[in-house]
Amino acid sequence: MSVTDNATKVYLVGAGPGNPCLLSKKAERCIQQADVILYDQLVHPFILQLSRLDAEWVHVGKTPYTKYMRQERINELLVEKAQQYRYVVRLKGGDPAVFGRVAEEVDTLRAHGINFEIVPGITAASAAISQLGRGLTERQVSTNITFTTGHFKDNVENEIDITTLENGGTLAIYMGVKRLPLLMDEIMTKVGIDYPVAVIFNATRPNQHIIGGTVTTIADKIAQLPERPGPGVTIVGEVVRDVEAIKPETNVAPEMVLLTGDRTRCIDVAYDIFEQGGAALIDDRATSALHPSQHDILTAWLEKFNFTSERTIE
Ligand code: SAH
Repeated sequence: MSVTDNATKVYLVGAGPGNPCLLSKKAERCIQQADVILYDQLVHPFILQLSRLDAEWVHVGKTPYTKYMRQERINELLVEKAQQYRYVVRLKGGDPAVFGRVAEEVDTLRAHGINFEIVPGITAASAAISQLGRGLTERQVSTNITFTTGHFKDNVENEIDITTLENGGTLAIYMGVKRLPLLMDEIMTKVGIDYPVAVIFNATRPNQHIIGGTVTTIADKIAQLPERPGPGVTIVGEVVRDVEAIKPETNVAPEMVLLTGDRTRCIDVAYDIFEQGGAALIDDRATSALHPSQHDILTAWLEKFNFTSERTIE
């Protein structure tokens, strides 16, 4: 028997690759209407600021001090919040259906008789390839695509599926940057073809960084980076040929603007800044209606970010 009533609904929402301009209209509406938002690390802070001032924000992702919140705990929290509120949003990076563990959350909601809806988002591989002006599939070049992961439960050494490559397709590897040397060795041993490879970090975000190479060269190029630039997706196959020649320039000093003022007015300005390749955050802590969770989370972010400029919106 369920303790939630029929009007309660949990929306499992894909936030896309991080750039707020790539949220779907539906995702934006869900965020605006939510009573509570449970969000992952990958979701850009500004995206949460599209919410109501009185919405509760709950971080269920990784922080520098804690490991990932266990999936079981997230499932429990989803049920608890659905018992407390009517409009619950579970906000995830990319598309909830691609390495987003959405099925486990849906199973929990079903078991508790809680209404739910999945809102798809733009997945990292789609975002990444858009930046290269290519397609994940291409006539007479690549007719199929596999989304795979370089990260396995309990670090069991599963093998990546290379049948795609053997059939002339595209392989997109999520969560695999750390294990890249191993994965590339595996491809070389099994297929023995030095395919083109691109690693796209922070796709569509101001700090996007793209590295092109081949199966035998890419791991060294990544190892030479001064620091790991954030989440990266690896694409293997002919569709990423000549990446160093075609990739867009890296924005070496992206703008990061701190906006103060009324949230609704600041949002329009922030969207313009994102559209121009920068990023923004709104400090509206002076607003009395702000939910305490928003106040605390915002305070932590403001300490973490280095802002290049500040603007007050009248
Ligand atoms: N559901 C997400 C994937 C979650 S797994 C989606 O559909 O995109 C997390 C992995 O996604 C990261 O390790 C990275 O490989 C990839 N990823 C997510 N956002 C990314 C981004 N903006 N740029 C590059 N890779 C990204």
